[in-house]
Amino acid sequence: MKVLVTGGCGFIGSHLCRMLLARGDFEVTNLDALTYAADPLALAEFHSDSRYRFVKGDICEWETVIEAMQGCEVVFHLAAESFVDRSLHRAAEFVRTNVDGTALLLEAARQLGVRRFVHVGTDEVYGSQDDPGEKATETSSLEPSSPYSASKAAGDLLALAAHRSYGQDVVVTRCSNNYGPRQFPEKLIPLTIVNLFDGVEVPIYGDGRQVRDWLFVEDHCTALLTALEKGKAGEVYNIAAEQDPEWTNLDVVKALVRMTGANANLVRFVEDRPGHDRRYAMSSSKIRELGWSPSLSLEEGLERTVSWYKANEDWWRPRLPKERSVPQHKWAGVHK
Ligand code: NAD
Repeated sequence: MKVLVTGGCGFIGSHLCRMLLARGDFEVTNLDALTYAADPLALAEFHSDSRYRFVKGDICEWETVIEAMQGCEVVFHLAAESFVDRSLHRAAEFVRTNVDGTALLLEAARQLGVRRFVHVGTDEVYGSQDDPGEKATETSSLEPSSPYSASKAAGDLLALAAHRSYGQDVVVTRCSNNYGPRQFPEKLIPLTIVNLFDGVEVPIYGDGRQVRDWLFVEDHCTALLTALEKGKAGEVYNIAAEQDPEWTNLDVVKALVRMTGANANLVRFVEDRPGHDRRYAMSSSKIRELGWSPSLSLEEGLERTVSWYKANEDWWRPRLPKERSVPQHKWAGVHK
């Protein structure tokens, strides 16, 4: 089966491409613009594999998209601007890629007769689930808090509208926060790990009591394959670990301090991010009914992730920002 993966040099996209190619029955074209978040060498082991093709290009450019998508039966759409903090400073870039780019890809898929379009979304579109025990289902209202999640919600709605307007075979997935090897060290878990390795302060927003339902990246990818193979056109599928008990960000950081053997005094509480959602929680029973479930506990996944970063300093060190401490003025001009 010929598949187009957008954003295949990103964190999740590279794991998905690797999983598809390991299965043997997929040919993969990876369309990626190679933004700062990309790893151009993420799939280097496949560069001479005839089942893999890399196209450097922007999902907002029609000719490029048509060229990359030609002959593909399936699209996994992952290309996105994905970091909430950046979206608070540069919302327009997020709208361009996450909304305009999604609309263009859907239109191209319609014209080329793509059999199934899997649109990869996020739990952040549901906003904060502040009542303990409350879990968003696929029919819960969309209440995004950041320009990132608002742009992703718009992409989801465009995908669902393509199904209703044109009968396109579209499946929308919404996954909780991912972690694992090869995640850019700007996100909480890899940033914490590498700072702990280097004895650099670990910033935690606010009181650190935010709840995220962390899912190991490969478990997200197996859920995307389930959505491809068993999902119903026009449907949304939540993908979540459903940790019980729930973990706060502080719990995650404390576990990483323990696993790295670092000094707990490195943890610093810093000014919270504007609009920071308190708790994400989803029910994932709909995709579990299709036979999917996560393979790793959070403890196991974190241990694996720490081991990977320990063994792959060459990968993460060049990706670190020059300034390692959190600037005092980070939200200047953003907070009211
Ligand atoms: P990432 O930032 O690591 O990778 C994004 C990739 O998209 C990069 O390789 C980048 O070069 C590429 N890209 C960006 N703009 C592009 C453009 N205009 N044209 C072509 N390529 C472009 O992101 P990720 O964490 O791997 O997330 C992938 C997808 O999964 C995103 O759609 C994100 O919203 C969604 N998602 C992520 C998480 C998470 O925790 N990381 C959770 C749920 C859903």
